[in-house]
Amino acid sequence: MVKRVVIVGGGAAGMQTALELKSRGIEPMIVERDIELGGKVRGWHKLFPSFISAKEVLMPIVERVKSERIRCFLGQEVVQIASDGVTLRSGERVLADAVVVATGFTLFDAHRKQEYGYGLYDNVITSVDLERMMNGGRVTLADGTEPRRIAILHCVGSRDEKVGQRHCSKVCCITGVKQAIELKQLFPSADIFNFYMDIRMFGPGYEELYREAQERYNVHFVRGRISEAAETINKRIQIKAEDTLTGRPLRMTVDMLVLLVGMCANYENESLANSAGLSLAPNGYFRAQDSFLGSVCSEREGIFFAGAATAPKSLADSLAEASLTASKVDEYLSNKFQPW
Ligand code: SF4
Repeated sequence: MVKRVVIVGGGAAGMQTALELKSRGIEPMIVERDIELGGKVRGWHKLFPSFISAKEVLMPIVERVKSERIRCFLGQEVVQIASDGVTLRSGERVLADAVVVATGFTLFDAHRKQEYGYGLYDNVITSVDLERMMNGGRVTLADGTEPRRIAILHCVGSRDEKVGQRHCSKVCCITGVKQAIELKQLFPSADIFNFYMDIRMFGPGYEELYREAQERYNVHFVRGRISEAAETINKRIQIKAEDTLTGRPLRMTVDMLVLLVGMCANYENESLANSAGLSLAPNGYFRAQDSFLGSVCSEREGIFFAGAATAPKSLADSLAEASLTASKVDEYLSNKFQPW
């Protein structure tokens, strides 16, 4: 009899897990609370480090899910998880032989860092807003003119005890470098400043891109955190910071401030974890069995993880993990693997 697996989340990791399961003769079903598949990548313009269009990566996966006729419950929210299936908000139960939690992450709400003026000042935007502008083919200031001086602030809502987000979001340093290069390509004579605490370039090609940003595009990197942003009378943004390499305070006026917002655990993780008897890590992400051979296994039999449900991950890492998850689910369902 064909085994069935329900996957909670129709982002890249969830879809890739479904496709890999299908190729192994298992029947996957996807439950996605949005009315479309694709998750956060749908709003992205280009991907680091190669600058490939996000659509070029995402759409073939979406199309395959459709052509393989994988059953999708769109616009449906899961409220309970158990090893024999999930319960939707409508009360419907979707029964399965195993469950994969691929619920991803939430982007930090930049309004919470009031000192940066997001939502108050027109020319303070987030990295997500910038991707949206790039997707729309036009990056401008609120008055429609081109920015000539831009500051990009790293670690907004990450590594920050004040907002209860101590973890590093892992992908925003490279996103900041990618966006700085894209801005320089759009506005070659503009000055771009990246304000960072540490530069974390862990992935293949990342360090090279960081060097390229400096050597080829003349992007400036300033070690220091912006303490405050204020709007001037002509709608420019005045920032106060400390250059922690020289130990000197710094004031600068820019046309646009871009806040690199971090990845946070979903608010629903707690109720979903409670419903399934799973536990969460201190940062609110689902806790996997361990970081080594059990990285995609939960503490409950028949419940697995894929993608950024357990920690911030790049798209490339999430897709690779989806393949691992599918292989572990397959082994579990064929009684070759029993980690519980
Ligand atoms: S990846 Fe960089 S910007 Fe993002 S939280 Fe870590 S150190 Fe900060």
